[in-house]
Amino acid sequence: MANSKFEYVKGFEQATDWVLLPSTYVVIRVDGKGFTKFSDAHGFEKPNDKRALDLMNECAKAVLREFPVLLGYGESDEFSFVLHKDATLFGRRASKIISTITSCFTGNYVRLWPQFLPDTPLQYTPVFDGRAVCYPSLKVLRDYLAWRQADTHINNQYNTCYWCLVKAGKSPAEAQATIKGTDTSFKNELLFSQFGINYAQLPEQFRKGSTVLKRPVRAVVKYREDGTPVERDRVQEVVLHCDIIGDAFWQEHQQLLGL
Ligand code: ATP
Ligand code: ATP
Ligand code: MG
Ligand code: MG
Ligand code: MG
Ligand code: MG
Ligand code: MG
Repeated sequence: MANSKFEYVKGFEQATDWVLLPSTYVVIRVDGKGFTKFSDAHGFEKPNDKRALDLMNECAKAVLREFPVLLGYGESDEFSFVLHKDATLFGRRASKIISTITSCFTGNYVRLWPQFLPDTPLQYTPVFDGRAVCYPSLKVLRDYLAWRQADTHINNQYNTCYWCLVKAGKSPAEAQATIKGTDTSFKNELLFSQFGINYAQLPEQFRKGSTVLKRPVRAVVKYREDGTPVERDRVQEVVLHCDIIGDAFWQEHQQLLGL
């Protein structure tokens, strides 16, 4: 139907196709739709189901394999993916970038589900939303990631207290009332004195979230007939549970991230 009388409608598509601002870091954030209900329907352990978090990380690795993403950061039902400020992926067309990354993530979530939760059949199809935001400098990008990691900590501390209280017999309303408006040290004290939990000793995966990046590794790719190994540099996706707010992480990975 090329050059048909119908082809003028293509103009409508071009007129609404948003191109992400050049020379800015692009963050694509995906987030599970209605995962409060989804996690409940699939019996996620509260406050943190490690199997579900590991599944999210594996989906993030798949995104890093498929797209020129520098870094991913995930917690709960969300993952943020950072594209380099000079990325040219899909001509920086927002709809292409958001939709392909979000569907790559979702498709892998469904595909890999049975590996991570083998005893829990999927009750219904998980859905993720996606959005893109441009950050004009490395400082603002770092502040964005710091905001997400601080959120991980705040949520995890709150949820750990909440679920301890609920599992100890309090009603949701009572548990909420006990911790509402309290500060960090109160919550730490509550966990320690009432439940014998030292917050700082909870798994780093829960407290710091997951950072996914690509790292060159020397790997054996095959063996010669005489048995000697043949090694090559391979890029591998790795998952870290470390602080990304301070300078140390950024200094250590400056080159790797091309920043
Ligand atoms: P929305 O569609 O607006 O995102 P939502 O119900 O998904 O709504 P979120 O703010 O995204 O709301 O919160 C995610 C929910 O999923 C939280 O309630 C969180 O406890 C739950 N959740 C996600 N991952 C896990 C996990 N690994 N273990 C336990 N609970 C989880
Ligand atoms: P892009 O990522 O740009 O969309 P593409 O390879 O998907 O690249 P399309 O223009 O979308 O390119 O074309 C879809 C391709 O998939 C065509 O080559 C088409 O022949 C093939 N294809 C899709 N569905 C079917 C089908 N049901 N049967 C046979 N071939 C199919
Ligand atoms: Mg939300
Ligand atoms: Mg959600
Ligand atoms: Mg969320
Ligand atoms: Mg097509
Ligand atoms: Mg196609």
